[in-house]
Amino acid sequence: MMDFNQPVSGNDLARFSGLQTFMRLPSMDTAAGLDVGFIGIPMDIGTSWRSGTRFGPKQLRQESAMIRPYNIQTGAAPFDSLQCADLGDIAINTFSLADSLSIIQKTYEDILTHPVIPMGLGGDHSLTLPILRAMAKKHGPVALVHVDAHADVNDEMFGERETHGTVFRRAYEEGLITPSKVWQIGLRGTGYTAEDFTEAAGWGFNQRLAPELWHKSLISLGKEIVESIGDQPCYITYDIDSLDPSFAPGTGTPEIGGLTTMQAMELIRNLKGLNVVGCDLVEVSPPYDTTGNTALVGANIMFEMLSILPGVAYR
Ligand code: MN
Ligand code: MN
Repeated sequence: MMDFNQPVSGNDLARFSGLQTFMRLPSMDTAAGLDVGFIGIPMDIGTSWRSGTRFGPKQLRQESAMIRPYNIQTGAAPFDSLQCADLGDIAINTFSLADSLSIIQKTYEDILTHPVIPMGLGGDHSLTLPILRAMAKKHGPVALVHVDAHADVNDEMFGERETHGTVFRRAYEEGLITPSKVWQIGLRGTGYTAEDFTEAAGWGFNQRLAPELWHKSLISLGKEIVESIGDQPCYITYDIDSLDPSFAPGTGTPEIGGLTTMQAMELIRNLKGLNVVGCDLVEVSPPYDTTGNTALVGANIMFEMLSILPGVAYR
């Protein structure tokens, strides 16, 4: 299996040593030859409440150092069959959200000239819009699995049309996603209007509000999503605030009554079979993550998503 990059083993170099890359993979400056590229997108200028997600990629990489290469419970062995590396951070412009979004889009368009699955480490959720623009340029409208406490379908915030709360309305308007193949999971909390979620349902989005999922296994939901999306290219965007703040307090806009880490794992593991073309994990805010637990959860969710990508070997 030495044809493929392997994470540095904790038995060869202590886990607290070495350069910080995702899962201690090699660092590369090109996606050429890769099947999977992890990309940091350190930004928080699209947030509406607590900032701090600019430190997300660093903390996700730090907590990822303890993840071992085999997903023993599912049998997934991603590093047996996929060439993976860490592509470093995107050089956003921290003084301009608009400029940062165009930098992200351009960077993704370059990356997507290669047959690679980009795995974005956020960063606030506004980064997903330019990624979807790049994805749609390559694949046409994509199916979307969007796990989040929030629908992120506001029209504008303070007159701004590109923020972390407007992403999926823009994606819908711009035709970047196939509405009937959009799944929003974990929505809850208070709204600006009583219709905050229902308007998007009217566009065709499939929504599962958190209270519908309380105390339930998400295995059947995962299978239902796979069946509904079929083989259409699919993007997975995972907002860490979909989890209950007791599991993931280190985030910008926490909402009580969220998913458990066990539900998150059940959901992702049962998305196996989707034609995933990209993933991101957003909204981890280390300044509010006093124990490091949120980033630990986020890094492991990233590994779970890696473990269901097309082409992953199973043992
Ligand atoms: Mn979000
Ligand atoms: Mn959210």
